[in-house]
Amino acid sequence: MSDANATTPPRESATRFDVIVIGAGFGGLCVLHKMRELGLTARVLEMGDGVGGTWYWNRYPGARVDVQGIEYSYSFSKEIEQEWDWSEIMPTQPELERYLNFVADRLDLRRDIQFATKVVAMTYDEAHGDWLVQTEAGDYFVAQFVIAATGCLSAPLAPNIDGLDSFAGVTLLTNQYPKDGFDFSGKRVAVVGTGSSGVQAIPVIADEADHVYVFQRSAAFTRPANNRAIGPEEMQAIKADYPALRQRQLNSFSGTLHFGAVTHVAADPDDKILAAPMEKRLSKVDELGWSAPWAWSDVMEDVEANKAGVALYGELVRRSVDDPDWAESLTPHYPIGCKRPILDTGYFDAFNSGRVTLVDLRKDPIRRVTSTGVQTEQEQIDVDVIVLATGFDAMTGALNRIDIRGRDGRRLRDEWTDGPYSLLGLQVAGFPNLFTITGPGSPAVHINMVMAIEHHTEWIADCLTYMHEHDYRCVEPTVDAQNAWADHVWSLVDGTIRASDSCNSWYLGSNVPGKRRVYMSYVGGQIMYKQKCDEIVADGYRGFRFS
Ligand code: NAP
Repeated sequence: MSDANATTPPRESATRFDVIVIGAGFGGLCVLHKMRELGLTARVLEMGDGVGGTWYWNRYPGARVDVQGIEYSYSFSKEIEQEWDWSEIMPTQPELERYLNFVADRLDLRRDIQFATKVVAMTYDEAHGDWLVQTEAGDYFVAQFVIAATGCLSAPLAPNIDGLDSFAGVTLLTNQYPKDGFDFSGKRVAVVGTGSSGVQAIPVIADEADHVYVFQRSAAFTRPANNRAIGPEEMQAIKADYPALRQRQLNSFSGTLHFGAVTHVAADPDDKILAAPMEKRLSKVDELGWSAPWAWSDVMEDVEANKAGVALYGELVRRSVDDPDWAESLTPHYPIGCKRPILDTGYFDAFNSGRVTLVDLRKDPIRRVTSTGVQTEQEQIDVDVIVLATGFDAMTGALNRIDIRGRDGRRLRDEWTDGPYSLLGLQVAGFPNLFTITGPGSPAVHINMVMAIEHHTEWIADCLTYMHEHDYRCVEPTVDAQNAWADHVWSLVDGTIRASDSCNSWYLGSNVPGKRRVYMSYVGGQIMYKQKCDEIVADGYRGFRFS
């Protein structure tokens, strides 16, 4: 804490803005630009020392987005759309980071961003109707509004494995990866975790390292990304088509038209896998390849049909992986659709390369990490590097790690003990003038994240304008409206595969010890969600209370 703050009460020493924005990723940059357009003073507080958020921290080998870059990009600036060229359908982390730096420069955003600044606490001051925000360095800010653009997958989760600290080699986290990279050549590497991050990283590390040991607890549903380069002529054609492309996105369920290889899914909606003979199922494998397990109308609705889909997936893995035991281990034993589907580049090929060994933790669990490597129940595997691709405390983790105190000193993380209640994923009762970009209860993680961010930014900007026009100082949801929204969000998953007992996913919080098992995202798609948002506004912001 600085000397000034040791003697001066925080409010008096604080710097004042109309809006404090937390985070300088896709969300924070978009919000800052919008606040400026509204004529408000805003300061972005960013923990990293550069812009990018997710694309700043997750710089592990092989990191790339799994939707089209031309869709996973800002639509609010026609100039930026025309000035930026994407080199690949699914750009890598470095390209996405360069894009966000380009946007920050192009819109002159940096002068309002304070880097290397971690927000640790914020308290709502009822008497003044504003927030007192505290940073780790002991600086204070006062703002009428706080907009948390803290991300849905931004609170890293280290695994609870005995002895991790005793490892004498190098330990790397995919989601806090060193800025200067890491040279794996000649190294023996353990990778723990086979979610999206592990599946992307493993083949790339294996290309460089001496040997990679993959410690797998749950197998992944992953399909080839079928990524490719975009040439200059194609990019010109895309630029000419941007207005129509954005419109097609708006008219789609998830705000993205191209989700890797899943182009044939439900090609024949009347085709039920349970009604089809095995030959027909296998012929679909020949015809549709990795899309085949998903290509039946009943797979996502019926547990038995889902099991048949998993069996087809197993068939594809068997055709791809030379070692039959590994193929069996690499076939998931939980429902399709339960965890986030993954798109990969050369994942199964890596297991045929001779440079990758699969350690199936269901058969041989980790006992502990030692100074020289990983000890399972059956063997000691010595390595030079451990890469942890073990995921995030998703949706609520980033906010709960800040000590957020609302009305009457109530704490957000306590309010969320039984699940993350909010109205529309935008605001929480008892926390006036705090907005969450893509908060829990919104569809963001199930749709195109950038589109979700732009929609929330516009919604908040309209709300602030409405408040200004009506001379309101405060807005927050009512408890009744918030509870009704939570019921609606949960009603969409109750009884479905996603919430079935055999599902454990970060959507449900079940990857975090002690976290309440509650589905945290809205699965109704972006069109229905936006309709609900619009109806609430048209009805005079029904469910929100202004004062
Ligand atoms: P994740 O999907 O949560 O995967 C974490 C992995 O670590 C799982 O395989 C998990 O096993 C394993 N694990 C956790 N604790 C473990 C332990 N103690 N011992 C052994 N294994 C352990 O995390 P992620 O891969 O970082 O991905 C999270 C989300 O980020 C994705 O679903 C996606 O939404 C996003 N993401 C997107 C991209 C992209 O766009 N391309 C890339 C990366 C991430 P269990 O499954 O058994 O728990």
